Amino acid sequence: MKRIGVFPGSFDPFTKGHEDIVRRFLPLFDQIIIAIGVNSKKKYMYDTNSRIDHISSVFDGDERVRVEAYEGLTIDFCKKNEAGYLLRGLRNTTDFEFEKSIAHMNEVISDLNEAPIETLFLMTDKNLSAINSSIVREIKKNNGDISQFVTNEERLIINT
Ligand code: ADP
Repeated sequence: MKRIGVFPGSFDPFTKGHEDIVRRFLPLFDQIIIAIGVNSKKKYMYDTNSRIDHISSVFDGDERVRVEAYEGLTIDFCKKNEAGYLLRGLRNTTDFEFEKSIAHMNEVISDLNEAPIETLFLMTDKNLSAINSSIVREIKKNNGDISQFVTNEERLIINT
């Protein structure tokens, strides 16, 4: 049985904070799927395909990492991909409260489906805890340099 974990998020954009979480979870898994949640009603700064291309470039050559976009319930995406674990990062108490609710709700939903999915958390790296996708977007909108927060940022294409 392969150990498969799903790391879901908007990743608009995928930052060095996200990257660090994936790299630190990798020794525990055979495969990690970075799952870009797409909500058709939401406007993203970066195009979905560009986000897939960008994240793939960050893990270029590592066969253990797959990048995919999905719609609908994260739990359903996990089941479809035979993943038993949801992976998340924690930066602060706000993340904790929010993540706790989602993890508990997901546990209830996945129990109903007789396929319990565990959520695992890693604490943010102390040097990366301030990195936040929405602040990175603000910096970019104002023509600031985001290269210190995002690996290979030249691969990202802004939605027009
Ligand atoms: P969402 O829209 O689901 O919040 P994000 O793309 O903002 O998705 O984040 C996905 C996951 O990455 C979340 O678990 C979030 O807490 C975590 N994360 C975001 N930034 C960092 C960081 N700098 N360090 C550690 N984890 C982070």
